[in-house]
Amino acid sequence: MKNKQICDRWFTTQRVEEGLYLITEPHYYWYNRANLWLIKGQSQDLLIDTGLGVASLRQHIAELIDKPLLAIASHIHFDHAGGIHEFEERAIHAAEAQALRDGDAHEALCSQPGWIDIDHFELLPHSGFTVDRYKFHAAEPTQILQEGDVLDLGDRALEVLHLPGHSAGCIALYDHRSQSLFSGDVIYDGELLDELHCSDIPAYCHTYERLQKLPVEMVYPGHYQQFGKEKYQQILGEYLDRRRQPGCPRKVYSEHNS
Ligand SMILES: [Zn+2]
Ligand SMILES: [Zn+2]
Repeated sequence: MKNKQICDRWFTTQRVEEGLYLITEPHYYWYNRANLWLIKGQSQDLLIDTGLGVASLRQHIAELIDKPLLAIASHIHFDHAGGIHEFEERAIHAAEAQALRDGDAHEALCSQPGWIDIDHFELLPHSGFTVDRYKFHAAEPTQILQEGDVLDLGDRALEVLHLPGHSAGCIALYDHRSQSLFSGDVIYDGELLDELHCSDIPAYCHTYERLQKLPVEMVYPGHYQQFGKEKYQQILGEYLDRRRQPGCPRKVYSEHNS
């Protein structure tokens, strides 16, 4: 476990389509590895999520940035908001603004055993890196997001959807014109986490009922591969079948069903 090698480059960038880049941390454990989306707009660029914060994402994307950049945390978890302190303009939903301001490791999920683990680093981001010194940085949000806010990039606009369940401040960004959804950890094609200390299963059910009515062509998720509308509806339906009881009541029903 000692003598792990140091990587040459912590991040990789892939051009997904015109004006959209996917940045990832390939030397980090696939299960926690987040997708960071850089959207190039006409008058503003948008970075959705910022990774662990163990290497400079700001430097990594510098050559791609030629306009004002707003960094957004889809939610407070360390794999998404860990690097947001590096950016001058940063936004998060109101429900998790205080946690970001405080650098709240509990809310960021990185104070729990097992989340920050040296075994999750295949290569190290820099010399002297240890998980003991990993820190979730406090950062003052410069913009507090609310349901219905519109982020206008000049040639495209993204609406903030507040979609609690995985955590209280989860958002997705929705482009009405292309019907694309940047979904963070609200929906992705992998194991959904709804039993974290910050999770709320009835709220998650409510969020999924809402999403079933949203026309979506393409999802750009916070983890794993992007996917289209059939998979989108399938994930929503399967989750609700598993979790929902009539009216999606306040209590967790999974114990009763097993
Ligand atoms: Zn999360
Ligand atoms: Zn995540």
